[in-house]
Amino acid sequence: MSTRRGNPPVLKRLGQHFLHDERVLRRIAEAIAPLPGETIVEIGPGRGALTDILAEGENAITAIEIDKALSEKLRVRYAKNPRVKIVEADVLKTDVAELAGGPFVVAGNVPYYITTPIIFHVLRAPYPRHAVFLVQLEVAQRIVAPPGSRTYGALSVNVQAVANAEIVFEVPRGAFSPPPKVTSAVVKITPRPDPIVGPEDAVRFRGFVQALFGMRRKQIANALRSVSELNTQQVAEVLASLGIDPQTRSETLSPEAQAELMNAVRSVLLV
Ligand code: SAM
Repeated sequence: MSTRRGNPPVLKRLGQHFLHDERVLRRIAEAIAPLPGETIVEIGPGRGALTDILAEGENAITAIEIDKALSEKLRVRYAKNPRVKIVEADVLKTDVAELAGGPFVVAGNVPYYITTPIIFHVLRAPYPRHAVFLVQLEVAQRIVAPPGSRTYGALSVNVQAVANAEIVFEVPRGAFSPPPKVTSAVVKITPRPDPIVGPEDAVRFRGFVQALFGMRRKQIANALRSVSELNTQQVAEVLASLGIDPQTRSETLSPEAQAELMNAVRSVLLV
């Protein structure tokens, strides 16, 4: 089944909003800026609007698209371009680094229903040099939010613990077809050479941070007692050892402080 313009039907459940504004697409390509020899892994190429622009360059492109009809169309379109590989798969079940097979960057106007899982799926060792995602503006703001700000939360801490993130530019609803309900933004996420949390601790850290932000307005001494098995005295000792005021609210603690806190709690519990 095809729509009138020869495109497969839009599948809302897959978060399909296709970019058609060429200026926006070119600005995204500029932000991706692959180095010679890097593979660009594109997540959710859709109808290939961004892929077409990326394919103007010299880099290899591996595009992962879950929609069978769209993948087939793309495969036909790039059949004569050996630098473009189309993989029909769920990105969350795909080893992105292995697929790239060498140095890589990640790009994608990602489906909004799984933005956060995709970000954490990509932010794993071996890391891409950077990832450029088009996401909801509100999500982009949460990713880059500094400690203590209104939008600072678990997503900010978990991304900032392993990467530097910046909003590159905003994208209005009208740049898409069909238009999404909200404004979007391009966010560039660059893994840090010195991640605060190692791969072995990433999942534990996410759980710890999530629990702390569940009590973001509470003083840290009370929040820590609730989320850990420490007693009042142990909590006081842990906070004193890190120089954290017990009256500080969790929502003002930097990613570094939250990681130190997790490690300190763990070392007390392991004694
Ligand atoms: N990049 C295209 C563009 O800018 O026009 C399409 C963007 S659209 C917001 C998101 C794309 O991701 C859709 O083509 C959708 O089918 C695809 N997609 C959704 N879930 C996916 C998944 N789990 N794995 C891979 N692709 C997925």
